[in-house]
Amino acid sequence: MAQNLAVRVAVISDVHANLYALEAVLGAIDRSPPDQIWCLGDTVGYGPRPNECCALVREHANLILIGNHDLVALGSAEVALAEFNPEAAAASRWTAEQLTDESRRFLEGLEPTAEAEGVQIFHGSPRDPIWEYVLTEIVALESLAMTDAPIVLVGHTHVATALLLAEERLSGGVATDGFEAPLELGRWLLNPGSVGQPRDSNPDAAYLELDLGARRARFHRVPYPVARTQEEIRERGLPDALAERLAHGV
Ligand code: ZN
Repeated sequence: MAQNLAVRVAVISDVHANLYALEAVLGAIDRSPPDQIWCLGDTVGYGPRPNECCALVREHANLILIGNHDLVALGSAEVALAEFNPEAAAASRWTAEQLTDESRRFLEGLEPTAEAEGVQIFHGSPRDPIWEYVLTEIVALESLAMTDAPIVLVGHTHVATALLLAEERLSGGVATDGFEAPLELGRWLLNPGSVGQPRDSNPDAAYLELDLGARRARFHRVPYPVARTQEEIRERGLPDALAERLAHGV
């Protein structure tokens, strides 16, 4: 039946325990409620509110992936803390101590890839769904070559991106607020950007609206009280650099 199809989907990613950014994005999404919300992973790590973000994501999202920061916070043997820079590693140790049994069980139940409504979905990339960043044209082309869905979604880079493969040519790049991707033009590799730690020089929280019926994707940015998250990062003794970067979107 048509009512079971998820035609309109809001895609979020890389919440990184930033509760105020997540609340702002969920509020914006709720003004025009989609059929489903998909979350591409890294719900925790870096930020001061891991358990609250796990609970909110679990409550609101229909499809949720696990990301590298989630795995490291769980202490997964396959994932080395050594891969992280000192700030990320310090935040991961702190997060691991904070996670409740409920948050752990929630994160442990997630996978880094999914497929839904004909869309292929990865936290990192098709080749390495946990660690690889799709940041270059070569990796984007390889990612599209390793998949066959008309729409491929990735997170992990914290940079909102829309790349189009049409007539064997790749075009596109960073997607700013309000950018619309006409999905009928070819195959798309889309990254919604990050809710809780944007790195495209825009501090506003990012999400992506996917309308599979109208074949259209639209990028959104939502302001949130950055100073409140910064204050909590500092109160918890997390590295100051993690608070500072939020003001600049880097
Ligand atoms: Zn991330």
